[in-house]
Amino acid sequence: MEKKELKVSAIQEGTVIDHIPAKDLFKVIKILGLEDCKEQITFGTNLESKKLGKKAIIKIANRFFRQEEINKIALIAPEANLNIIKDYKVVEKKKVVLPDEITGIVRCYNPNCITNHEQVTTRFTVVSRKPLQLKCHYCEKITDENHIEII
Ligand code: ZN
Repeated sequence: MEKKELKVSAIQEGTVIDHIPAKDLFKVIKILGLEDCKEQITFGTNLESKKLGKKAIIKIANRFFRQEEINKIALIAPEANLNIIKDYKVVEKKKVVLPDEITGIVRCYNPNCITNHEQVTTRFTVVSRKPLQLKCHYCEKITDENHIEII
């Protein structure tokens, strides 16, 4: 417990994203657009987790996310939670919530879909959450959790 507190309090202001499956760390970085972030970002991966086996954690200084931004990561890290840090203290905790519609994050699994051939933003309706199933707005084919590819 003490160890965890120490990790979380390492940034003065910002966001700590915890409980990311270790294998999905870089996908989360991509979805949140952190590749272009100019703030200090630190992450740890392959940390022990009772819930996930191996987990990853990301700390982003001076950056706070809107709920709809963090909800995007629910696609690949449904157990993730966020700690909002102000003055080295956790002032708020947030859970990710999978939205009903997913726009522009996932590739349609159907190779013949228009979104794979033209400049069309993908759009899906979440038809099932467990297991995750996304129905394409254009071709109506299902992309399931085993075939989710982040674009
Ligand atoms: Zn499609």
